[in-house]
Amino acid sequence: MYNKICAICGKEFESQYIRSKYCRYCQALAYRQKNTNRARERRAEARDAELEYLQQQAEERRKEREKEFEKREAERMRKLEQKAKNGDPLAIMDLLMFNESSDHRYNIEYWKAYQDYQRSQDGGGRFEHVVNGVSCFDEYFPELVIEAIKKEKGKIVTATIFHTH
Ligand SMILES: [Zn+2]
Repeated sequence: MYNKICAICGKEFESQYIRSKYCRYCQALAYRQKNTNRARERRAEARDAELEYLQQQAEERRKEREKEFEKREAERMRKLEQKAKNGDPLAIMDLLMFNESSDHRYNIEYWKAYQDYQRSQDGGGRFEHVVNGVSCFDEYFPELVIEAIKKEKGKIVTATIFHTH
């Protein structure tokens, strides 16, 4: 038997083991405390695992939405290209505006489509659409309007004239 001093309560106690640190009362307490700590750690681990799971789920949903968005976007572009192929002037203009490799302001196809569209909207000749002083009714509107825009350093000013007669 060894004579020891309890590390918790400071009382003397006897033990058959030289490494004993606590008296038998404090030993029971220490044991319970250790179990409580272990249970708390396990709960914290479970919470972490749950949080990680929720984050993974959120990430998957985000990726799914992104995929869905890309699909819709591709579908929209496909429809737009089809419409442009069929000669829809607004679709042609949209496509040329989306095209980042060329500036639609200096693109003759853009202004041809613009002219087509404005002419289809002329209200039986009552409206006259003018861009930088060039009328959409002018035969050479696309060529002239590009020159006019260049002269204005890229600035575009549009106006619609109403003919009352
Ligand atoms: Zn003790």
